[in-house]
Amino acid sequence: MRLTDKFGRAITDLRISVTDRCNYKCVYCRTGNEGAIYAELPLADYLRLARIFVELGIEKVRITGGEPLLRPHLTDFIRQLAQLRIQHGEHAGRPIDTAITTNGHLLADLAQPLKDAGLSRITVSMDAVDPAKFARITRVPNGFENVLAGIRAAKKAGLAPVKVNCVLLRGFNDDQIVAFGKFARDEGVVLRFIEFMPLEEDRVWSPEIVVTLDEILERMKAFRPLVEIPHAYSETARRYQFDDGVGEIGIIAPVSHPFCGHCSRVRLTSDGKIRTCLFSLFDHDLAGKMQRGASDQELASFIESVIQKKEARHHIGEPDFIPPSRTMVHIGG
Ligand code: SAM
Repeated sequence: MRLTDKFGRAITDLRISVTDRCNYKCVYCRTGNEGAIYAELPLADYLRLARIFVELGIEKVRITGGEPLLRPHLTDFIRQLAQLRIQHGEHAGRPIDTAITTNGHLLADLAQPLKDAGLSRITVSMDAVDPAKFARITRVPNGFENVLAGIRAAKKAGLAPVKVNCVLLRGFNDDQIVAFGKFARDEGVVLRFIEFMPLEEDRVWSPEIVVTLDEILERMKAFRPLVEIPHAYSETARRYQFDDGVGEIGIIAPVSHPFCGHCSRVRLTSDGKIRTCLFSLFDHDLAGKMQRGASDQELASFIESVIQKKEARHHIGEPDFIPPSRTMVHIGG
């Protein structure tokens, strides 16, 4: 039996935030302050909860934050996580897919140990290929060199293909589109442009700031046209390659081309709350139940009941949009 919500969507993808602390202060994400609001669970607790989710049908676990590489002993945690096996369906018995989303600042030294621990994939966030612009966005000096070293170390460790996430904001880094196209070709990384969503602490979002999928394609044409390639139904990114067959560029377009109808995700916050959507107005206290002594069976029943409450879709840009109860850094992106 697989974990399925009331709209028939199979829930196969779990994202776990292991901290809401971050060593970057990206302008579109956090205010300038240090930012940890919520508790962190012991890594063993995330592991127990991940195992229960996997028994219910989760096949991919992505570790995120905050900045996940700030958690000590993350490599040991990944080693244990990577032991979990898919329980249902055609891939039953195979190891789950394990991934990390990181800003890459501390990755250079950790890439090889993480690969050796069994990590399947890594995504590094990088919002400019111009170092000065990168510093203005992250509000951290000299981070660019660390992130580039992290990306190269991940490639060398065999965590290929390394994905690079870039959130575009009009007037801020939309002049980096073509530069990113060249960067993806030169470095052999898979690029993912992400449309900016209203999940930031400073509430600066407006439809005008969002650089949409159509605009990215149009502007990349000035360098080389992109040609669409097939993507899996449950995949959030539309995928493209350059017209000479080189590279892979994905565009995740939750604002201009929402994909809620085939969303397969559920999230666990650093303090152990389940979120059924980035834009949920409520979360569901799984850790509280665990801390009060619930059995695995009781936790599994709770997860199944919460999944039934998964929202049909988000309401970004609509008159009835209500900002979610937490911002991205405190949910886990
Ligand atoms: N610190 C890690 C990192 O930088 O990748 C993991 C957490 S971060 C919240 C995960 C991803 O969410 C990053 O790629 C970041 O750029 C993206 N992100 C943050 N705020 C966003 C927003 N308002 N809209 C779209 N993506 C956002």
